[in-house]
Amino acid sequence: DSPVAVLCSGGDAPGMNAFLRAIVRLGLNRHHVPVLGIRDGYRGLVRAAKLVNGESGELVRLKQEITAHAGNRGLIDAQQCIIQMDHASVSGIMGKGGTILGSARCMDFHKPEVRRGAIDLLEKLGVKALVVVGGDGSLTGARLLAEESSLRVIGVPATIDNDLQFTEMALGVDTAVHTLVWAVDHFIDTARSHRRVMVLETMGRESGDLARMAALASGAEMVITPESGPLTEQAMMSYAEEIEGAMTRGRGHAIVLIAEGVQFDPPQTRNGAYVLRDAFQKYFQREGAPFQDLEVRPSVLGHLQRGGHSTPGDCILAARFAEEAWKAILDPAGANGITALQHNKVQIVPFGCEDLPERALHSQAMDRLHDDLSSW
Ligand code: ADP
Repeated sequence: DSPVAVLCSGGDAPGMNAFLRAIVRLGLNRHHVPVLGIRDGYRGLVRAAKLVNGESGELVRLKQEITAHAGNRGLIDAQQCIIQMDHASVSGIMGKGGTILGSARCMDFHKPEVRRGAIDLLEKLGVKALVVVGGDGSLTGARLLAEESSLRVIGVPATIDNDLQFTEMALGVDTAVHTLVWAVDHFIDTARSHRRVMVLETMGRESGDLARMAALASGAEMVITPESGPLTEQAMMSYAEEIEGAMTRGRGHAIVLIAEGVQFDPPQTRNGAYVLRDAFQKYFQREGAPFQDLEVRPSVLGHLQRGGHSTPGDCILAARFAEEAWKAILDPAGANGITALQHNKVQIVPFGCEDLPERALHSQAMDRLHDDLSSW
């Protein structure tokens, strides 16, 4: 039977492995269709295409390599760009962070001729569908492949930023929120003991959703997101004033989350957490201020948010996305598209579909809820 190929691309996200396990196991156990794993995202695909295209001997060799992998008890040879995923290859990976297939960025994939080479290779291998797991950029690459070939292409949203507006949740978000709650819990201990203000910078270049959800779940006192527009000096002063007011009423510490994507007016080159720290410190140390020795400590949380054991929520979403992907692949009348969670139902939406209008409203509602829950 013609195989289905799967790759993970762009930034890794917890839940990618649970998805790989589900897509492979459903393929083998329920649909009896073999699944090929492409290593290192589009980069691996392009590398394989370069090897093979124009050299028919290489194609035979690649096919032999792919099948030779079957039964290899999950050992993935770094030299191999494409491997056959058997039952054992996805054993014990469910909750593991990252992706066993590897992920990568591949600038070459922006070139139509490079994508053509990739399509040629997939066609030569008799691949009936390609599943791309990744964020916005990866899904754009998948849309182009769908437009430029007759392959069935299914995208699966995976990004901890939750910046894809057509799905309520992407893979990885639930785990990243969980990690941030853990981080806030740790920072609170020092904040309380030393009566400090902690400014923590979360990921989220295009969206403040991750910061917003983490604030709601951790009880962080403040959250600043890109959706509120560029942060002026005056706005920073009023945040500082709010903290000072709470301290006057007996509050001993504060946790402030700021999303990576927050812009400043005037623009700043440093991380937002540092800019905010300086602004707060300046305010607290002004002449005659009541808490002149109040310390503000910034911390950029960075990649720790992307790793770690995925939550049950992400594992379940991964299984649901995989099931829907198979439905779309096997339906002769099915269309190309992306698995999405809309109104808590997993469905396929077309590439380049409209944003869910509820997403923006939902974010606003969360902001309001957070404001009311954290009023101090
Ligand atoms: P993410 O998928 O996490 O958003 P990137 O934006 O870095 O990560 O995209 C991952 C990869 O997807 C890129 O390195 C590139 O190979 C491919 N890609 C992104 N944008 C495009 C595009 N406009 N055209 C073709 N390929 C793209």
